[in-house]
Parts: sequence; C-alpha cells; structure tokens
Amino acid sequence: MDSTTRIIATDDDGITQAAGILRAGGLVAFPTETVYGLGADARNGTAVAAIYEAKGRPSFNPLIVHVPDIEHARRYIAWSETTDRIAAAFWPGPLSIVAPLRDGHGLSSLVTAGLPTVAIRVPAHPVARALLAAFDGPVAAPSANPSGRISPTRPAHVRDGLSGRIDAIVDGGACPVGLESTILGVSDQQVTLLREGGISAERVEALLAASLHRHGENDTLNAPGQMGSHYAPGAAVRLNARKAANDEVMLGFGDVPGTLNLSQSGDLAEAAANLFEYLHRLDATGAPIAVAPIPETGLGRAINDRLRRAAAPRES
Ligand code: AMP
Ligand code: MG
Repeated sequence: MDSTTRIIATDDDGITQAAGILRAGGLVAFPTETVYGLGADARNGTAVAAIYEAKGRPSFNPLIVHVPDIEHARRYIAWSETTDRIAAAFWPGPLSIVAPLRDGHGLSSLVTAGLPTVAIRVPAHPVARALLAAFDGPVAAPSANPSGRISPTRPAHVRDGLSGRIDAIVDGGACPVGLESTILGVSDQQVTLLREGGISAERVEALLAASLHRHGENDTLNAPGQMGSHYAPGAAVRLNARKAANDEVMLGFGDVPGTLNLSQSGDLAEAAANLFEYLHRLDATGAPIAVAPIPETGLGRAINDRLRRAAAPRES
C-alpha cells in the first residue's frame, strides 16, 4: 500500500488505472449506488487482509463480493431458479444474494470468513460497473470508512477516514441511495431477509409471491449474537500454545512451528489471508487444534478475535 492516496477521475483512463491497482493487489475506494466501497481482488487473500488493516476492523466478518454482471455471479454461487428470478429482477441494483459457494470458485476464504456461502452483488452505479467490467473479476468491498465510523457517501468522507491508508479513490461524486444493500439468503428451500436495505422486503415478496423468512426465525443451531454468519471449527481449540499436545494438531505462527504455519515470517496480513483455510484443513483432521500466540497488534486483533470465538465453549 502506498502512503499517498491518489484521487482518480471516472474517465476511461481513470478506470483503467483503478482496475490496474486492483489487479496488482491494491485497495481502491469506488462509488456504488449505496455507499463508497473499499475494493480489493476477492481472489487475493493478502489484498483482502489489507481491507481489514486499512479499516482497522477488530473482527473478520464476511464481505460482499461485487461482480460486473450475472454471468460472473454464476461462477461463484450455486444457481437456482429462485436466484435467477431475484437476479433478473433486481440486478444491477442495491441487493446482495448470499448462496452456497460453487466448486472451484477461487475466492479467498477470508472473503467468506470461512463460510460455505458467499454474498454477491451486481451494483448499478455506472462508475462501479465500469470499474468491475474493466477489472473483469470479483471485488470484495465493505464500506470505505474506518471501522465504527459512519458509512461514506462522498469521496471527501473516504479521504477524511482513509487517506494514506489506501491506494486510490475513484471520485464519482455523491452516492444516490446512501443506504446499504438489502441482503437475501437464497437456498432451494427458502429466501431469508438477512438485512434490510436499498430494496424493500415488500418488493422481493411481491416478486416471489411469498413472504420472506426473517433472520433468526427457526435457526435454532445459531449461538447467541448472530453467529449464523460465522464459521466455527468442530474440534476444540486451545490458544496461546507453544507446543502441541500428543493428540493435537497445531496452527503455528512465526517461529512457533505447527502442522501448518499462518506465516513463518510473522507477517499478520499473510496470517489473516491463511486463517480460515488453515482452520478448515486442521479441523478436517478431527483432532483438537492448538494455536500459537498471535500478537495483539494491527490485524492480529482481528485474528485473535476470531480465534477466541473459535475457542469459546459451545452452546450445544
Ligand atoms: P457490508 O458491511 O455492507 O459489507 O455488509 C456485509 C454484510 O453481509 C454483513 O452483515 C455480513 O454478515 C453479510 N454477509 C456477507 N457474506 C455473508 C454470508 N456468506 N453469510 C451471511 N451473511 C453474509
Ligand atoms: Mg460498513
């Protein structure tokens, strides 16, 4: 990441530059019809880790992946007749679809925070569309503001919050909607409203001629506190370990070795990029997991937050 943040125009030359920064693993803020998004190549784990670093987010939650059109969306999620109707009606637009990942999707596991589902959206803003078309790939993008601050609807908001922490801002003026996208969970069985947003639940219900399930209804498997959108390993997790016990597999970091090492050089962005993938791999062994100490600085805070939740006693 550059220490100066470039302001980029929305002409062809600017869009080409912005797409080039994304391709090189950089961070670009760009306007959508909802708010300014902070974009990174969704296939590049260290680029996605840099989003968390720039925002100073204290925890990893799954990010929405932005794509140029329906054809791109179909590469990443299982496509059903219901998905097709919703996409045809509301894309491009302020609506995100959460659906099961397709095999060979190629997205970083940090984007999905280790979940088997992903949120996808085709935004309508002409600048977002131009950038996504030029990049020709999936862009992970949460709102372009420091964690805990108000969502940015103007380039000046982004500059005030993130200047010097991201590579560029595409200056597309004020965002028209200013509300976040509506998020729908779509499976063969049902459509669930996960978040209210720019497209009303009534409009979706009118399209489907059915009422939407509300998040939390009947999902008895969820631990308290919207854990439905969080991955937890099945095995027991022991933190701050220096060495694995006999029956354990070990997640190493830096010079604390393990069955897998998050980052041998002690690089926190590399560790964040590997975190969910490695937890899944160790979890698949069925053995309890010991985890090396991770420093509580920068991205280490978000990594430790995730690990503490993984290690917390289960509800059932
Ligand atoms: P934003 O902060 O606008 O990027 O919103 C991201 C929202 O999408 C968060 O509330 C996430 O919990 C939700 N989300 C993204 N991916 C998933 C997913 N795979 N499952 C459930 N919720 C998701
Ligand atoms: Mg936000």
